[in-house]
Amino acid sequence: MTVAATTLSREHISVNALKVVQRLAESGYEAYLVGGCVRDLLLGKLPKDFDVATSAHPEEVHELFRNSRMIGRRFRIVHVRFGRDIIEVATFRGPHKEVDEDSHSETGMILDDNVYGTFKEDVFRRDFAMNALYYDAKTNEVIDLVDGRNDIKDKCIRPIGEPEDRYREDPVRMLRAIRFKAKLDFTIDDATGSSIKHMGYLLQDIPPARLFEEVLKIFMSGHGVKSLEAMLEYDLFGWLFPASRRTMDGSRAEKLIHLALASTDKRIAIDKPVTPAFIFAALLWYPFITEKKSLEDEGLTNVEASHEAAANVIANQQLFTSIPKRFSGPMRDIWNLQFRLPMRFGKKPEILVNHKRFRAAYDFLLLREDSGEKLEGLGEWWTKFQEADGEARSKLKQQTTGNNPKKRRRKRKRRTQQNHANQNDANRGNTNQGNTNQSGTSQHRLGNRSYNR
Ligand code: ATP
Ligand code: MG
Repeated sequence: MTVAATTLSREHISVNALKVVQRLAESGYEAYLVGGCVRDLLLGKLPKDFDVATSAHPEEVHELFRNSRMIGRRFRIVHVRFGRDIIEVATFRGPHKEVDEDSHSETGMILDDNVYGTFKEDVFRRDFAMNALYYDAKTNEVIDLVDGRNDIKDKCIRPIGEPEDRYREDPVRMLRAIRFKAKLDFTIDDATGSSIKHMGYLLQDIPPARLFEEVLKIFMSGHGVKSLEAMLEYDLFGWLFPASRRTMDGSRAEKLIHLALASTDKRIAIDKPVTPAFIFAALLWYPFITEKKSLEDEGLTNVEASHEAAANVIANQQLFTSIPKRFSGPMRDIWNLQFRLPMRFGKKPEILVNHKRFRAAYDFLLLREDSGEKLEGLGEWWTKFQEADGEARSKLKQQTTGNNPKKRRRKRKRRTQQNHANQNDANRGNTNQGNTNQSGTSQHRLGNRSYNR
């Protein structure tokens, strides 16, 4: 069905995106704006970015635009750059002939998606009906072959085709459904929702780097709290953050993660900078202090345990979502500073307030207190200390007692192999949804990730 785009305001369309489709059309190719940008324009929202679908192949697109670059392996696309504005151009994709070994994994996941197709085939390769609308700039019409406009009107997220097949083909679509639910305030229909609830285990097959990118979109787009709630509702959270999931359930851990995401959402709303390091610090704080405590019980000093626990918890998380070093470093700083903040004697407070990660660590401390940790007014002390001048600072330091803990060092018990195996079992021992898959498909993956690509 082709409909006049009466409700789509052309003035919100990026001039650069229009230039790209026009140039492609002039060269004899079909070219449309597609996906989230058309959806958002119909919703009256300003699109985050503009995607173009075309009959031209990537090499042909690249040849037409000097300011372009071919990228991607799974999806080969072309980025056309206009200063900081990037228009993503993808060639129409076609279906796979059959589930063959080269293009699909054992679970039916698409491994190689570079099969080109026709316009119509491209429509049916898209994830949700609301994302499969094409805007034709020549005629100012929206082409809708899947009833996507109705879904937008009804605020409904509906996969194109059989939900289970579509999630099996690309399990990340389940995370996308969650993200759109949170971002657009749409509903996931019941049939689709129940598929998601029992298919979360398929996320195990997605490379951690792709999941990290998706987690950023989920938590760092201004709808983090709603996204977390939806991920918990649809039993997906534990497949990305199993260690965090185990410490949650109505506990302080859940509160802390909520508060960190709420603070991130608020900062994004007022254009303040945010970093994944802070969110990951909150997500993994309880797994970290639990691991640290158990290493101290084994006889490690505070400093040793802290170092080793951070390394262990990060290494475990990396099996699920990668955490690039530029974020894991600051995250460890935030954690380590939590143990230095109680030490308020001599020159230490002055040194600490000048630490490059002090502000993040202080904010984190306040969230810990707000989530119910009893820290004897430590947050308030630091608030006052930052506001105070020299004399008032000396007085504040005198108020503190017992913050110079004596180092204890006990002999470390050796971790026997059995001991270690138990530990791993406990680590895996699962999230709520972790063991519930009735098909008996392998649910556990610590040290046991499969890579299909
Ligand atoms: P956003 O507003 O967050 O950018 P979007 O819908 O534009 O949302 P993109 O990731 O930019 O999301 O993808 C552009 C379009 O590509 C989607 O609207 C959809 O049509 C298609 N698409 C993206 N990812 C998938 C996927 N995993 N499977 C099928 N189609 C996809
Ligand atoms: Mg987009």
